Amino acid sequence: SKTQVGFIGLGNMGNPMAKNLLKHGYPVIATDVFPESCKELQELGAQIVDNPAEVADKADRIVTMLPSSPNVIDVYTGANGILKKVKKGSLLIDSSTIDPAVSKEMALAVEKMGAVFMDAPVSGGRYAILAVFRRAHLNGQEDASVGAATSGKLTFMVGGVEEEFTAAQELLSCMGANVVYCGAVGTGQAAKICNNMLLAIGMIGTSETMNLGIRLGLDPKLLAKILNMSSGRCWSSDTYNPVPGVMEGVPSGNNYQGGFGTQLMAKDLGLAQATATNTKTPVPLGSLAHQIYRMMCARGYAGKDFSSVFMFLREDEKE
Ligand code: NAD
Repeated sequence: SKTQVGFIGLGNMGNPMAKNLLKHGYPVIATDVFPESCKELQELGAQIVDNPAEVADKADRIVTMLPSSPNVIDVYTGANGILKKVKKGSLLIDSSTIDPAVSKEMALAVEKMGAVFMDAPVSGGRYAILAVFRRAHLNGQEDASVGAATSGKLTFMVGGVEEEFTAAQELLSCMGANVVYCGAVGTGQAAKICNNMLLAIGMIGTSETMNLGIRLGLDPKLLAKILNMSSGRCWSSDTYNPVPGVMEGVPSGNNYQGGFGTQLMAKDLGLAQATATNTKTPVPLGSLAHQIYRMMCARGYAGKDFSSVFMFLREDEKE
């Protein structure tokens, strides 16, 4: 039978991920600082313990899914952290989106204890699955795509020692459809940060374009249709359109609830800025996108889906 897998951080993402491990027959031992988030998993048979050290004492494979860099540092190196009890030869996979410099620091600290660290941030979520369903439906190929969408919803971008990738893949493939090896530790984070910077820029571009077209007298549905058969087409225009009423099953059709929060997007853009500064890389549009999403957070959009930038751009209508 399969040996216990540790899971730390049972939030929006961690909860369904840990459930998928259970579903694939892995006994799970888990913890979260917020006891309420452990309830569902406990009812499904997971063992819940008090802190990360206890998880590390019992499991030699551990997945962490935490909000940001300081939480990861705390869970690894804190007073009751993983490193207090980690076993030699353990495999520690961090799926949080954090600064790649912190991933490298954690990898060094873990290596000193004779264990292995890999960064494996994820892309995707509920709306990404819906998009796969919708596209499969439109193309009349329901079987293939629906299978892929239900078995694994996420894409993992993995950084670390290549020899350990197969071991990481065994666990990650229970939780995601795509598990991609990116290179040395930190490169998974790099891939994730790059994707989200482009996503942020594309969403703002789509929103201001749609807004301009609407004010020029175009019907939003028609404009989206034309963009999507032309060279302006992108994920934000054809899969996750930010204008209410253009598409069904996306946050713009549901008052921007659910989806990917503006605050998380602002965090990821902040990471992109930090890495761009460190590498002296010009990212003028990424920088502007960061400022726009930060302003949105200060104006009450923090908890709304990031496509609500469309509404933010239309605030002048209130005046
Ligand atoms: P979340 O806030 O819902 O969950 C994080 C969990 O970690 C919470 O339950 C919290 O109580 C727990 N936690 C925090 N500090 C802890 C500690 N010291 N010890 C134990 N538990 C602790 O966040 P989420 O939406 O699940 O996102 C997790 C990560 O995944 C983030 O880095 C985020 O950027 C990334 N991500 C999120 C999405 C998304 O759509 N939500 C998509 C892709 C990637």
